[in-house]
Amino acid sequence: MRVVSADVYGKLTAMILRNDLLPGSRINIDGIAQLLRVSATPVREALARLESDGLVTKIHLKGYRTTNLLTKREIDDLYEFRLRIEPFSAARAASVVSAASITALKDELATFPSVPTSSNFDSYKEFSAHDARLHHLILELSGNDVILRAFEHTHCHLHAFRLAYDSRSGHETIDEHKAAVDAIINSDSARAEEAMRRHLEHSRDRLLPLAND
Ligand SMILES: [Zn+2]
Repeated sequence: MRVVSADVYGKLTAMILRNDLLPGSRINIDGIAQLLRVSATPVREALARLESDGLVTKIHLKGYRTTNLLTKREIDDLYEFRLRIEPFSAARAASVVSAASITALKDELATFPSVPTSSNFDSYKEFSAHDARLHHLILELSGNDVILRAFEHTHCHLHAFRLAYDSRSGHETIDEHKAAVDAIINSDSARAEEAMRRHLEHSRDRLLPLAND
């Protein structure tokens, strides 16, 4: 049962991220169950998890609908938050850097030395997961769990994924990540803070044109 539920969760997540289930649309639980050849129970379990991911929302007595894509205003708000915590955290990570954290940062960067050449859903998903892991790692290394939990709660990578899935801008992202990691590894707090700030500003500016008002 657990395996079925996890599998349904994975498939439903992909359907939402790919916009096979359109943003803001009602989810037909029986229809999904039929499509995936499972009973309604694992679909309901998956929807409960997706609700905590911010990808679906419960409609009182009426089931679930997919959440809307972020608007320009919501992206601005989200990035204002990220700009307040992540450059600071990158600076902090640089000031407390250890041999173990250098290895962890290098290992994460090595998972994507360049952008995936194929532009299919799975490779884009892997790249987005790498981006999420790197930002998470830097926050973790900075050592403040409250900040880390607040960041996780935004689900910023899932939201960005839905907006940006059909446009690709990986090369810049990789260069910006390298600049931030290089500064952290060299214990250069000022440069780490600046590199993270620039990366987030560029990332916001890449997303904004893709969003509606
Ligand atoms: Zn990034």
